[in-house]
Amino acid sequence: MDLAGYTALVTGGSRGIGRAIVKKLAANGAAVAVNYLTHAAEAEAAAEEIRACGGRAMAVQADVGDGDVVPAMFERIASQLGPVDILVNNAGIIYLGDLEGFDLAKWNLMRRINVDAVAHTVRAAAPAMKARGFGRIVNLSSIAAHGTTFPGNTYYAATKAEVVVLTRRFARDLGAFGITVNAVAPGFIATDMAAEGRAPEEKQALFDRCARVAIAGRVGRAEDVAHAVAFLVSPDSGFITAQVLTVDGGRMDYLAHP
Ligand code: NAP
Repeated sequence: MDLAGYTALVTGGSRGIGRAIVKKLAANGAAVAVNYLTHAAEAEAAAEEIRACGGRAMAVQADVGDGDVVPAMFERIASQLGPVDILVNNAGIIYLGDLEGFDLAKWNLMRRINVDAVAHTVRAAAPAMKARGFGRIVNLSSIAAHGTTFPGNTYYAATKAEVVVLTRRFARDLGAFGITVNAVAPGFIATDMAAEGRAPEEKQALFDRCARVAIAGRVGRAEDVAHAVAFLVSPDSGFITAQVLTVDGGRMDYLAHP
């Protein structure tokens, strides 16, 4: 797919899935803004890698959970790369916990980034997208939102279910302006987040378990998700909106009947 002439913003593009999305969109010709929170060197390196190959890219620091700073990030991107045509809401965090013993204050902290940020960025992106009659928005949900048996995901899953609802509602709000809004729901992807909050000795057992419960027989790679995002942001995907594309290698461990 040819994304030449389009400007993309990937939130949380410094590491993991976001970094793979940055690479993929740039390889397809998009100018890419690599948003980050704390990992400046990684974000700068991702942008530099693109520029070294003749592409256009910038690293841009902003806490996407803070609605006061998000509009300024869009202005900075517009002045350097052009207005954002493609928005990928990838930034996210996880705090583990199931029914009991979970500090509910952490739920709000997760929500701030996993959910509120989606509203902040879509609100900031929409006016310019509407004016041009084109936009592609992809939000990162998770198969946790579908309801897997994976332990520790209860409250995180709830934030990712909210992402699905916002995706469908925003698709409805923006559809008449040539803007599509979709979500991708990854399964278990080998990134820093995948092992977050787990003891090192738990990590291999976790990877083995997740490989076992996927039809594909392996855990996911960040590139698997990037491929799905690139498909949804293509100019040719204009008739696909309000959808959730699951990228999980065929997970078989759902709580209720799949
Ligand atoms: P990760 O490796 O932990 O990377 C998280 C990224 O989010 C980093 O680039 C981080 O930036 C950024 N970030 C965190 N808080 C931010 C904030 N307030 N403002 C801006 N950026 C912020 O995570 P990942 O595994 O790649 O996950 C990416 C997305 O996929 C998340 O939404 C996650 O929920 C979702 N997902 C992941 C999996 C999985 O198995 N890994 C499965 C399903 C869904 P810094 O590095 O600069 O701090």
